[in-house]
Parts: sequence; C-alpha cells; structure tokens
Amino acid sequence: MTASDSRSGVVVIGGGFYGSSLAAHLARGGAEVTLLEARQDLLGGASYFNQARVHGGYHYPRSLRTAGRSQASYQAFMSRYESCVVDDFLCIYAIARGSLTNARKFRRVCDYIGAPLMDAPASVRRLFNPAVIEASWVTRESAFDAVKLREIVRQELADAGVSVRLGTRVESVQESEAGARIALEDGEVLGADRVLVCTYGEAIDTLPQGVGYSGLHCEPCEMALVDLPDVLRGKGITVMDGPYFSLMPFPSTPYHTLSHVRYTPHGAQPSYEMAAAALRRGLTSRADRMLRDSARYVPALNDAVHVESLWGVKSVPARRDGDDARPIVMRRSEGGRVMSLLGSKIDNIGDALRVAEEHLRDAV
Ligand SMILES: Cc1cc2nc3c(=O)[nH]c(=O)nc-3n(C[C@H](O)[C@H](O)[C@H](O)COP(=O)(O)OP(=O)(O)OC[C@H]3O[C@@H](n4cnc5c(N)ncnc54)[C@H](O)[C@@H]3O)c2cc1C
Repeated sequence: MTASDSRSGVVVIGGGFYGSSLAAHLARGGAEVTLLEARQDLLGGASYFNQARVHGGYHYPRSLRTAGRSQASYQAFMSRYESCVVDDFLCIYAIARGSLTNARKFRRVCDYIGAPLMDAPASVRRLFNPAVIEASWVTRESAFDAVKLREIVRQELADAGVSVRLGTRVESVQESEAGARIALEDGEVLGADRVLVCTYGEAIDTLPQGVGYSGLHCEPCEMALVDLPDVLRGKGITVMDGPYFSLMPFPSTPYHTLSHVRYTPHGAQPSYEMAAAALRRGLTSRADRMLRDSARYVPALNDAVHVESLWGVKSVPARRDGDDARPIVMRRSEGGRVMSLLGSKIDNIGDALRVAEEHLRDAV
C-alpha cells in the first residue's frame, strides 16, 4: 500500500487517555482522525497504571502553577467524567515533621489556590503517630475508576467517528511538504496531514527532528495493592512532603494502591525503553518496605496485607524533579506536521487539549 492509498487528516499515535481524548476532540471539531494503538485495547499503559487520584492541587505545594491548575481543573473533570468518579471516601492529607513543607505553608498554598481544607476530626488524628506527623486535614479529592474511564473514552471515540486501530504499532514517522508518512510494524504505510504522538515517552524508531521525547526521567515503578484493616477502609491517606507515601482507593478492585516516594520508583532511566527493559527483566518487590515505613506514620498499616503489585513506567520531564511540577510538554517538528504531547496527569486533560489545539492552529 502506498501512502496515498489510505490518507487521513490526522493520525494520533497512542491510545492512552491523552491520545484517545485528543483524537475524539479533533474529530468532534470536524477532522478526519485515525487512532493507532500498539496494545490490544485502549488505556492499557500509564492510563491504567496510576494512583487514580483526581488531583485538587494538594499534592504540589512546591509548584504553585501545577497546584493551581489542578484545583482549577478539578470540577471540570468531576462533571465530565462523573460516571467513573468515586468520592465516597475520606481523603486525608498529613504533613510529616521535618518534611519539605510545614503545616503553615501547606495551609497557605491551599488557601491561595482555593482548595478546601477541613481540620481532621479526632477519629482521623488518632490514625497518625503524633511523634512524626505535624498536622492532618480532610480534603476534597476523588479517585477515578480506570476501567470505567476506558469505556467512556471508547464511547467518545465512537460518537466522534474516530477510526480506531488496535494492535497497530507505529515504527516510523516522516514528514515532507506534501504530508506525513507513517510506517507500521507490519509494513503498511499511511499518509496524513498531521500526526500527533502521544506515547508517554515510548520511542518510535524514526521521528522528525525535535519531536522525540528527550530529557525524560523514566522510572520503572511499583505500586502495591493492599487490603486494609477496617479502621483504614473508606479512606485515602497522603503523607507529605518528601520521602513519604500515599494510599488511595483503586476503584476497579476492592483494594487500595500504596505508593511510596522512596520505594515505588525502582531507579530512574534516561529512556522509556530502558525502564521497560528493567521491568521485563523482573524487579524484586519492595511492598514490604513500603508497608513497614508507612506504618511508622499510620500504625494501623501494620495490619494491611499486600495482595499484589502493579508495575509500569512513569515518564516525567527530568528538570521537574526539584519542584515535582507536572507541566504539559508539547513539541512540534520543523515542518509543523508532526507533534508530540507528553501526558502529565489524567485530570488536566482539559488544559492538554487546549495546548494541543493552540499548537495545531499555529502549525502549517
Ligand atoms: C505510578 C504513576 C502514578 C500516577 N498517578 C496519577 C494520579 O493519581 N492521577 C493522575 O491524574 N495521573 C497520575 N499519573 C499520570 C498519568 O497516569 C499519566 O499522565 C497518563 O496516564 C498519561 O496518559 P498517556 O495517554 O499520555 O499515556 P499512556 O496511557 O501510557 O498511553 C500511551 C499509549 O501509547 C501506546 N504506544 C506506545 N508506543 C506506540 C507505538 N509505537 N505505536 C502505537 N502505540 C504506541 C502505548 O501502548 C500506550 O497505550 C500517574 C502515573 C504513574 C506512572
């Protein structure tokens, strides 16, 4: 097949939440869109493997921009994806003594971005070891069910008329003045006016200059799925700000995810492929360490049971390690036909679509 045999206006590569949402958004705007996903189903990468938090901004006291945008996007995400949102749990934040933030600064940031903070009742304060926890609050944050989110996205794509091709891995993208040429692993070649690469840092063998994901920090990550004792059920607990942990309901299962800043990342690699290779070689679980350390802050975690671990790659721009910010990174090829968009957080999809639209408008 030649490129001109099957030409689409826009080809989106990567059927995670970002690529799928972008494909549906562009199709709703009138473009003819094809979505290519290497896996056999949508939202099977980081869009499933994550802590399912709909961020209200509390997580980012060192990046006012990310904190503020999270709070600003919160309600929009909650309304749009209402049927996959779970908010029937108590979302608790606590500040550890000696952390990068103290209770006063945390409260100031929350006030500044308009994120509600309620003083924790005694029943919540009792969960913490006061020797290592300075303060705790009940906050307004939710979780999303990634399996239900996949069904919403599938419906959005169908309604918008996007042509979705699963099990379709892209090997290379080239651009010329006449258009872009997309070579698939099985030898087929597609043509397009525009290409959007949304692979969360996973490399494509050949891409036009400037759109590859350079300067990434890719971590092979482990999240422990844990069964909680009764006293912790119905609660999400995040201890800030530094080498601590967070515990969130994982709504497609009866369990919670436990993620620990020190033990969840099993090292960091300069590329997605190197991180994925480390996962394939097999890593030794650190769930016991996560639980042991977290129980120093919340003693009832001594009675939590590790059920299994979820493994995947986290890709973030390396220069954001210091402030923990999650910017939307978008790059454009010299010819303007090919762009890449690195997913940052599920809940700021509205901002991502806006940024993508602006870049598309400015392109050739
Ligand atoms: C441990 C962890 C915890 C997180 N916690 C949260 C949280 O609580 N809340 C939150 O909002 N965000 C969280 N995130 C961030 C969030 O998960 C990601 O920002 C988001 O899922 C990125 O979506 P995406 O579509 O860009 O990537 P993905 O979902 O990974 O999609 C990329 C897709 O591209 C496909 N692909 C790759 N290469 C090719 C190719 N050559 N051809 C065709 N297809 C290809 C892949 O198969 C994959 O399906 C977390 C992330 C991690 C890793």
